[in-house]
Amino acid sequence: MSLLGNPSNRRSFLARSAAVAAVPALATVAGSTLAGPASADTLPDYAPIPPSALGPALNAQGYYVGRVEKNLYWVTDGTYQAAFLTTREGVVLFDAPPSIGRNLQRAIDQIASANGVSNKVTHIVYSHHHADHLGASSLFGKHVVRVGHAETKKLLARDNDPTRPLPDVAFDKRHTLHVGGERIDLAWHGTNHTPDNTYIHLPEHDTLMLVDINLPGWVPFDNFNLNEDVPGSIAAPAKAMTYPWKHYIGGHMGQLGTRADMVTYQQYVNDIIAGVTKALTAVDPTPYFAKYGNNSWAAVKTYQAAQADYAAAPVIKKYTGVLAAADVYTASTAFIILESIRLDLGAGSQVHD
Ligand SMILES: [Zn+2]
Repeated sequence: MSLLGNPSNRRSFLARSAAVAAVPALATVAGSTLAGPASADTLPDYAPIPPSALGPALNAQGYYVGRVEKNLYWVTDGTYQAAFLTTREGVVLFDAPPSIGRNLQRAIDQIASANGVSNKVTHIVYSHHHADHLGASSLFGKHVVRVGHAETKKLLARDNDPTRPLPDVAFDKRHTLHVGGERIDLAWHGTNHTPDNTYIHLPEHDTLMLVDINLPGWVPFDNFNLNEDVPGSIAAPAKAMTYPWKHYIGGHMGQLGTRADMVTYQQYVNDIIAGVTKALTAVDPTPYFAKYGNNSWAAVKTYQAAQADYAAAPVIKKYTGVLAAADVYTASTAFIILESIRLDLGAGSQVHD
């Protein structure tokens, strides 16, 4: 998933909106009138986010670094997260989001100098191949051991992006990484958000890192985190819960998660599934097909949007004040889950007589 909420991107947003403002308010293209630039006054209002969804304040450089447990630390810019482990042989970095970028090394320097340990990154562990979590990997040069799933290696070879060097060490099912007396267990438990998304467990630090599944304190990003495998993504939290851990690093937003956050997230997804299942029979398709006649896509689009809204409405009500942005993205996640229940599970399919 790709988010634009961090401060440096906000600055480029502002630069872009200045450029957009220079475009004439109304432009006519092939006879149709396009809307002018958005005005903040006319944009929709959303419920205030609960203060609990916000993490610690960022420093002047735009990051926060804090201890997860012992010599394991996490870094956030408020929207993205990475983590690092200081060891007697150097630093193991987990993901390298480009939005945090050079602040990764700054955060490592800050902790290393405070503790009198090496600040040299020797290993980077990749959670999955997505550029928004790895695009600062190349900043650490060639003499770093990169570790990732075999599918991550395949997908990165396909993407051919110089900012994301391929893993030097690739594994299929499980791999235990030992660096400077520390232990990191990597495992692949099937596809979910992406085909390569990896469970990163630090048993001696009571921590699980699993990126782009649960974003603690917040509902998923648009369209259920753009998850490629919806049933696999729905199943992932239960797999995460089979591990012993206290701290959860979800890769997004400004705070770490707890087991209670994972339970809330599972309940949220289950509530959407229940709503969607009900919507399959409760929403009458007749008016949509009556109105749009032989324009099948117009009928299907409006009918399914009504089903998604039907499923989302009670969920938005229940989670407003609990998970941030429930009113922003629940309907789009309900739509994706609706399609998965239809297409993956076959609900609502009728065989023609
Ligand atoms: Zn992703």
